Amino acid sequence: MFFKIFRLIRSFILASVLDKHKEEFVVNINEINLTRGKITAVTFIVIEAAELVILFTIGKNIFPPRTHIYYATMYTLLILVMVVYLLIFVKLENNISKHETGINVASVSFTIMILFWCEGISLLDQLSSGQIIVYAISIIAIAVTPIFKPITLLLMYLIVHLPFLFFLPYFQKSSDILWANCINSTTFLIISWMISCIRYKNQVDDFNNRKIIQKKNDELKRVNQKLEKLSQIDSLTGIFNRFVFDKTIEAEWDRCKRYFIPLSLIMIDIDFFKAFNDSYGHQAGDDCLRQVSRVLSSSARRSSDTVARYGGEEFAVVLTHMEKESALEFAEQLRKKVEQLAIPHMYSSISNYITISLGICTVIPSDMLSIEQFIKTADEALYEAKKCRNKVVSA
Ligand code: GH3
Ligand code: MG
Ligand code: MG
Repeated sequence: MFFKIFRLIRSFILASVLDKHKEEFVVNINEINLTRGKITAVTFIVIEAAELVILFTIGKNIFPPRTHIYYATMYTLLILVMVVYLLIFVKLENNISKHETGINVASVSFTIMILFWCEGISLLDQLSSGQIIVYAISIIAIAVTPIFKPITLLLMYLIVHLPFLFFLPYFQKSSDILWANCINSTTFLIISWMISCIRYKNQVDDFNNRKIIQKKNDELKRVNQKLEKLSQIDSLTGIFNRFVFDKTIEAEWDRCKRYFIPLSLIMIDIDFFKAFNDSYGHQAGDDCLRQVSRVLSSSARRSSDTVARYGGEEFAVVLTHMEKESALEFAEQLRKKVEQLAIPHMYSSISNYITISLGICTVIPSDMLSIEQFIKTADEALYEAKKCRNKVVSA
């Protein structure tokens, strides 16, 4: 039981992020503390300025002349200190990761200064009302506004609270009130520190959870990218599949139409491939498809060229910004390169090796034409080429 409670308290006090994330976490905390420090300083400046105005208007008639000066000096001093801190916070904000020590020193000294200030007011209050409300509020305000490590805040509280307990008897002569104020302020301080510990632990847990979500998101992104790539690639040949061809031709058609530039399409078919398959076997057929694909894709070097497996032993090459003559030349190169692969094909009627037939269509896309017509024309050119085989025909 005791061990359990001890472990729970320990988990709150020693809550921390992984070593590799510590720097980012500290920057995070410092950013929050700087913003809250600025807001606190501005709030004090506004309140003290308002109090000064009240003092010099309504207060003039209420306070005796000397008290009046005493309060005015206190308010002005506090405004000056707050302006200095505000300027320091604004300066440190320029490069939070570089000013880690500076931000720590500024936040800790700012907090201790506020606590001491309020402690002073409460000690003075002992001479009149005997209340410790100002000091008590400052303790809780510090627990819920900035974010400090539990140990740091505990030390800060002790630095301020021990002198408070020491000086209290000099200001409070009633032993009853003295005893009550000691007990109440100390209890209040412990509760406030616990609240701050819980806040710090929540901050750490939030940060850790954010990191876990970020990591999972990155993993998911990588898996998605892999899946997207896989969905675009033909598993046998490793070149783009029909899906990519359909998308590409549509996109390039629109692009060429917008800029009035030529678009060429080459439809390719391996000659007598059924006979090759039947004679050399399906494995050899697959291997042949891979070799032909490699030649086709390595020949299309421009980033805008797309080579895809159209289906079976048919391929398509989309060539953006390519005139009819250049497309014809390019297709002829492809035909020769496949022939030069010299894949034996004893059962072809026109050669001893694997050959391809190619049909080309080149157009400047417009509203007068459709993509379907464009593909059909290239297909018809291929059909013409098929009459001789191992041939290129341009529509
Ligand atoms: P043509 O010269 O007129 O083009 O005749 P062809 O025999 O090449 O044409 P056909 O359409 O009759 O035959 C195509 C063959 O391609 C049939 C099929 O066995 C083969 N084929 C299609 N896809 C694959 C594949 O993924 N792997 C293998 N090994 N063969 C395939
Ligand atoms: Mg075919
Ligand atoms: Mg064929």
